[in-house]
Order: sequence, then structure tokens, then C-alpha cells
Amino acid sequence: MSIHFPKVGHKEPKAIGLMGGTFDPIHIGHLVTAEEARQQFNLDCVIFIPAGNPPHKNSSKLTDREHRYLMTLLAVANNPYFTLSRIELDKEEPSYTIDTVREFYQKFQGKAKIYFITGADAVLDIITWKDYRELLSMCSFIAATRPGYSLTKLKVLLGPAFSEIIPRIHLLEIPAMAISSTYLRRKVAAGKTIKYLTPASVEQYIYKNRLYHQE
Ligand code: NAP
Repeated sequence: MSIHFPKVGHKEPKAIGLMGGTFDPIHIGHLVTAEEARQQFNLDCVIFIPAGNPPHKNSSKLTDREHRYLMTLLAVANNPYFTLSRIELDKEEPSYTIDTVREFYQKFQGKAKIYFITGADAVLDIITWKDYRELLSMCSFIAATRPGYSLTKLKVLLGPAFSEIIPRIHLLEIPAMAISSTYLRRKVAAGKTIKYLTPASVEQYIYKNRLYHQE
């Protein structure tokens, strides 16, 4: 796996963020989350990892992976701390987070601290994820939430596993998390503008390729 780290150069990174998501489409909530995580957790870089074949979703309902990849590429292009990986896109089999994190863990030989950044709602069902205990031994989670999100939901859902898991999960409050990919898709389908909700380059890509015109 070859990843270019624009700001890190040839130095060994000490902490990296893996930004996992479907990105259908990517929007400013994702970008603000990644930048905030980078600053708060002193990350050397954030690697966006668009999901190829997410195990918990019906892939036929997702936008073509190459469109999701190109939109993500356009969105991260002007941040020197951001890059992206095709690690999940180039596989046909389900993209389990454990397999992705393990590859990065082995690449850095356990020397770089790994944070998996994603939405808090995705983390809610973490105990159903493949090999979640091993996953939590290799990385911590940064879970983006709306301000005021309470841990109660997580506590109820995780039950006895809560106390084992919670030390590995950092909640990160992001005001822009009120924006969601679903919101953007619905707006495009309704013929409404998505200006400022995603970078202009992504907005233009969506119109040019007539994505999301029918929900
Ligand atoms: P999802 O279930 O569609 O998303 C749940 C919520 O989290 C949505 O509100 C979503 O908003 C938000 N979200 C997702 N990714 C985010 C990110 N990087 N930053 C901020 N908010 C985010 O989530 P998903 O995108 O399909 O999956 C998230 C990640 O978890 C992926 O990397 C996926 O592969 C992984 N995952 C792994 C397993 C497993 O290994 N078994 C199971 C489930 C998920 P938006 O819709 O606006 O993005």
C-alpha cells in the first residue's frame, strides 16, 4: 500500500486519522470533522477511506464507487494534511474496518497511533462489527456528534460492553454535523441548490454527472 503524506514528507507519522465513510456524497460536515480531529488529536494527516462495499449496506443503492472516490478526491485536494486511499474501493469483498485498520497497523508496525474517525451513529453498533475487540486494540475511535449528543444512547445499546469500549471512543462535537449526505441527495433530487454544503468542485461534479437527480 503506497500512501503519499503531503505534510509528513519522509518523516514517520506519529498519529494518523483514518476517515471512514461512504461519502455519498462528501460534504462540509465530513471535512470539518476531519480538520477538527486533526487539530484536537495532533494528527500528522488524515486519510479519507471511501467504503467500497460496506457490509451493513445494500451496495446496489450506493452511487458508483468511482464517483464517490472522485468527489472525495476533489474535496480533499486543497488541504495539505488530507489524502485518500483506495484500499476499500479496490476490493470486491465487503470492506470490514478491521481489515483496513490492520493493513495500516502493519504498515506502521504499531508505531503510529491510529484513530478511526467516523460518525457517532455508525459507532453505535460497533459490537456487531467484525472482530471489534481486535479492532479496538489497534485503534481508537473519534466519533463525530452533533453538539449535546448524550452518551446514554451508546450506554443502553452497548450494555455490559460499554465500560470496555468507552475508553477507546472519543466523542467530537461538530456543529456542522447537522448536515448529512441524505440531506444533500434530497436537495439535489428536489432541484434545490447544495451551494456551500459541499466544496464547489464537488457540487459541479454532481451536476455534471447528474448524480442524485432521482432519489
Ligand atoms: P453510516 O452508517 O451511513 O452513517 C451513520 C452516521 O454517521 C450518518 O449520520 C453519517 O453521515 C455519519 N458519518 C459516516 N461517516 C462519517 C465520517 N467519516 N465523519 C462524520 N460523520 C460520518 O456510515 P457509513 O458511512 O456507512 O460507515 C461509516 C464507517 O464505518 C465506514 O468506514 C464503514 O466501513 C464503517 N463500518 C464498518 C463496519 C464493519 O466493519 N463491520 C460496519 C459498519 C460501518 P453521512 O451520511 O452524512 O456520512
